[in-house]
Order: sequence, then C-alpha cells, then structure tokens
Amino acid sequence: MSDIPKTDNQAVQEKTQVGNYFISNYPPFSFWSPDNVVDVQRALEHQGDPQTPLGLYVHIPFCRKRCHFCYFRVYTGVNSSQVNTTLDGVVNEMKMYADKPFVNGRRPEFIYFGGGTPSFLSTTQLKSLTDRLKEYLPWDQAKEVAFECEPGTLTESKLEVIKEIGVTRLSLGVENFKDEILEYNGRAHRSKEVFKAYDFARKLGFDHINIDLIAGMMGETETNWKECVDKALEMQPDALTVYQMEIPYNTTIYKEMKEKHEDIAPVADWQTKRDWVDYAFNKFQENGYAVNSAYTVVKDPDKVKFLYRDRLWEGADLVSLGVASFSHVNGTHFQNEHDLDTYLTRVTKGELPVYRALTPTDDERFIREFVLQCKLGHVAVEYFEKKFGQNLIQRFGEIFEQYQQDGYLSIQDGEIQFSRLGLLQVDRLLTAFFLPEHKNVRYA
Ligand code: SF4
Repeated sequence: MSDIPKTDNQAVQEKTQVGNYFISNYPPFSFWSPDNVVDVQRALEHQGDPQTPLGLYVHIPFCRKRCHFCYFRVYTGVNSSQVNTTLDGVVNEMKMYADKPFVNGRRPEFIYFGGGTPSFLSTTQLKSLTDRLKEYLPWDQAKEVAFECEPGTLTESKLEVIKEIGVTRLSLGVENFKDEILEYNGRAHRSKEVFKAYDFARKLGFDHINIDLIAGMMGETETNWKECVDKALEMQPDALTVYQMEIPYNTTIYKEMKEKHEDIAPVADWQTKRDWVDYAFNKFQENGYAVNSAYTVVKDPDKVKFLYRDRLWEGADLVSLGVASFSHVNGTHFQNEHDLDTYLTRVTKGELPVYRALTPTDDERFIREFVLQCKLGHVAVEYFEKKFGQNLIQRFGEIFEQYQQDGYLSIQDGEIQFSRLGLLQVDRLLTAFFLPEHKNVRYA
C-alpha cells in the first residue's frame, strides 16, 4: 500500500515543487539509454505492421523568446540561415527513414508539427519544408495535420500558407489573456495578437482550432483566471486544453529557485490549480462542451477528434524528426540527439541522429497504454484483455480499491472510470501502476 500516493490533506494541499508532474510516456525517459540504440537499427530493418497506424512528428526547435516555465529543447535569437540549415537536416532525416523497410510505402495517418514554435517559420520555409517532406512521405492519407502556433508569429498570409499545406488542427498557445502575466512569465505574445490570429484562422475555415491555457502561471489570481476562462469561452474554440503549471528542472523558474535556495515554486499550489481547471471544465460544460481528457474539453466530441493523442495512447508508430524528438518504431522507443549542432552533424553525415533508446517488454507496453489511456478518463477492460491478455481488475485490483475509496474512480460497464476528482490529478495517481523499479525515479 505504501506505493499508492498519499491521499490525506497533506498530499492534496501540496505546494508546487520542482519536478515533472505530467506523464507523457512509459517507462520513464531516465531508463532510455545510448546502449540500446542498436535496437533502433533492428526495428527499422523490418516492415512495420500495416495494422498499426503511422504518425509523423516534426519538431521545430525555435521560439522568439524562451518562456520562464519552458522545459523543451528550444533555441532563440536564430537567423534564417540557421533555420534553413536545420530544416535541411530535418529533410535529410526524413529521407533516411523513407528508405528503411519499416516505412516501405506506408503513409502517415496523422502528422504533428510541434516545438518550439512551428509558426516561427516563414511562409517560404514552411512551403519548402512541407513540399520536401511530402516527396519522401506523402500525406495523401493523412486524416489530421496538427500545428502548434504562438499567436504573435501569425499573420493572415502565414495562416493562409498553413492552411494550404494541409493543416487541419490549429493549436494556439494562448496560455493567459492578461498581458502583465504573459510578460511576467516570459511569453513573447500579447493578448491582442491572440484575437487577431484567431479571427484570421476562423475566417480561413480550419477544421479544428484548439486554445491552450495554463492554470497557475506566475502572478495568476482567481479573478484573472475566471476572466481568462470567460474570454476563451467567448471565442468558442473547437477545443480548449488546460495544463496545470509544473516546474521541471530545466526551467528558468527552477534556476532562480535554486539560486535563492527556495524549494517552493512561485506559482499556485496543486489544489488551487486543480480547482481552476475544474472551474474551466464546469464553465465550458455549462455551455455545451464535453470533457474528453484530463486536460481537454471539446465542443462536439463526435466531430472534434485529436488523432495524434488518441493513436499514440493506443501504441501507434511515430517517426519523429528534429532535435530531441521522440519516436516509436516497431516496439522500440527512442530519442534524437538533444543538442542541435550534434544533431546536424550526424544527419549531414547520413547517420540517424538517435541518442538513447528503449525496447519495452510486453508488460511495460501494457502499462504504458493503460496509464496513458487513464488520462482520457475511462479505460475499457476488454481492450487490454484482447490486446495484451491482461485483466486490469486482477492486475491492479488493490490500487483500484484504494482509489475507489478515495473517490478517484469507479468500475462500471466494463470500464475503469475516473471521477472529476481523480481526473484532475490523474498524473499523480498513475505512478502507482508503474513497475517497482520505475517508481520514485526522476522521470526525465
Ligand atoms: S513558446 Fe512553448 S516551446 Fe517556446 S519557449 Fe515558450 S513554452 Fe517553450
């Protein structure tokens, strides 16, 4: 029982300290190793399973400014020639994958441009990059092309090009509507740029526009948060994603905490952040939206899909291009070099720039899919029986019992169903399902 996170008041009122809260993969990245890179070559040398969906991720590692809470691999202050060199590297990497038996004529079902800031690219760079990528891996069967944007980088003509290259899901990193808070947290954009970009995007008729907000930015107050939720609602996005602010080790905020010998981050505690997300979810639900994950509400769940998330959480293959990006190929997980110069040197030499890898066991793959699908709020017992021959109730009965008593979940209609209380802190609850060697370790 000691492995199950504490549920008493002390744990619930926890202050925000340094560390990763959000679970994005399993086993933890700290178990991926350069010693396993040999697995990647093997995985690429045999044909991918035609039944497994294939996705493509393209990492654009540039931003106008580094946000104080950012923990991604991003570069600022770059010129267009540095950007072009990087994009050439990404295209070279694509070409190397296209030649591998793993791809062998398969087409991606979903594509995701993330970062960094994909919308940092100029219209010429965007067109050239996507034309060249499509030559090696045509997008003719892609059902979704998702694209992350920083509102201050968007003009009407850039949005036209983003539409023209095939983007169906546009995600605007709004984070907050109050300029002082944006400034204080190191964001590059201001709120008036959000409204301008959103209006252009609506006019152009993107299928799916998502707005990101962050609950608990530095300087946030309850009054302002409620105003942010109201403003987001007035915009009537197809989806709203709300993250709870976490402070991983490689953030500027943590560096400052360390210098000042402070343990507690200058942001709201976890209970307050959960309350704020709860408020946003309720407000949107009252206006016809549905909660479809621990972070997301959507206007019309039958129409508004997010394939990138859903397919990855069901174990899809993913070829990821760019510095520090994460791939999943034929059962092997791997990450690219996390330094841009090293990445470029290797791709220029015609080498796949893989830095560390892990081939999970069947049991680890089962746990991975289970914990990721918990983030949707409901998990079908039968799915895991059919796919992995694992009975969730037998395997995790003791944990489920504890979580049922705590009000985090219930088991009904063949599903594990998380309550709102459980969903709002789901990442914290998931480590109980990890194998013993993966608990209490540094996640990244
Ligand atoms: S825009 Fe996103 S990727 Fe860029 S610095 Fe800010 S948080 Fe990081």
